Amino acid sequence: MKEKAIDGKVIRVLQGDITEQEVDAIVNAANSKLLGGGGVDGAIHRAGGGEIMKECDLIRKEQGGCPTGQAVATTAGKLSADYVIHTAGPVWTGGDRGEDYLLGSCHRESIRIAGEKGCISMAFPGISIGAYRFPTERAAGIAIETAAEELEKSSLEEVRFVLFDSKSYDIYAQALDKLEK
Ligand code: ADP
Repeated sequence: MKEKAIDGKVIRVLQGDITEQEVDAIVNAANSKLLGGGGVDGAIHRAGGGEIMKECDLIRKEQGGCPTGQAVATTAGKLSADYVIHTAGPVWTGGDRGEDYLLGSCHRESIRIAGEKGCISMAFPGISIGAYRFPTERAAGIAIETAAEELEKSSLEEVRFVLFDSKSYDIYAQALDKLEK
């Protein structure tokens, strides 16, 4: 585990399973239709149970889903968190279709919504670094820098990044080291 204090708040990077985190909100690397899928999305729906998809179905009916770069909150069902914040990360297609901006926006919007819900702590997986193939070093830099900027303005006290495999953990931990704060 690696952590850095920012104005009395903290960013942590750790290796583990996001569904087991004891935080107020966990972020899901969803798709824009909120239909569930493999990877971390599948793991969150399995562990949290059917209540989460029921709320995703409602959001899909009301607003069509969640555009890339945006985020929406649902219950966390059986998970220990109070909320799952679903964000649709960009698919990496070479970097010239606004992928960096959209990935930053996923983190900004998720942190903003967690703050609105009164959360004190939240956990992110590596958004877009799996099936969506965003280069991990680049994603880690954007994720950590955006979290640091937003944390300063937010009522949140902790933003945690939970990476499943040791290689991704090392890369996010290095990005936290590089953060100039
Ligand atoms: P995306 O489609 O946004 O790329 P993926 O779910 O394919 O999302 O992958 C994002 C990252 O989440 C990958 O590094 C994957 O290994 C990781 N992951 C998968 N399951 C879990 C889990 N239970 N907890 C934390 N991270 C997970």
